[in-house]
Amino acid sequence: MPPKNRKVAVMGYRSVGKSSLCIQFVDGQFVDSYAPTIENTFTKNLRVRGQEYGLELVDTAGQDEYSIFPAQYSMDIHGYVLVYSITSEKSFEVVQIIYEKILDMMGKVTVPIVLVGNKTDLHMERVVTTDQGRKIAEMWKAVFLETSAKQHEAVNDIFTRVILEIEKADGNISPE
Ligand code: GDP
Repeated sequence: MPPKNRKVAVMGYRSVGKSSLCIQFVDGQFVDSYAPTIENTFTKNLRVRGQEYGLELVDTAGQDEYSIFPAQYSMDIHGYVLVYSITSEKSFEVVQIIYEKILDMMGKVTVPIVLVGNKTDLHMERVVTTDQGRKIAEMWKAVFLETSAKQHEAVNDIFTRVILEIEKADGNISPE
């Protein structure tokens, strides 16, 4: 089977670790002081359930509650990774606003989404509980993961799961 090309936007408030997650996934390293992103694209091939995928990741500039949803993040995007930091209440609020905007734009269709609570290594600074994240994801019928880009914890899962969600939305695999 030829590889399938899939494009995924990584969105969320600034400094939640969007770039760090992408770089950890693509390069297998954690860069501590990565310059703030304007927009970056990463590509990586991966195999999920025997199928080869060419995954293109759009690492977006951070959004806030006032950001107008950029049209280019709706056009040819197959799925979304929405990231907040478990150390930031604000980032958890912003991710919910971004979700509303995605939904407004896409209408009623199922949108493949993985909700990610990043920075689990900073457990002393945690302000968003695992339960809060899980509840929101349940409401959205989205996948929920907590990760640490720093410790390479569950990072690859994000991208495998988003591929599976995309395939599910396309009707290619039945939901679990
Ligand atoms: P972005 O603006 O969302 O792309 O965030 P960055 O990837 O630039 O990360 C912002 C800051 O958080 C940087 O100093 C990163 O080193 C740090 N960071 C990102 N992910 C983690 C993580 O999982 N754990 C910890 N402790 N720091 C992280």
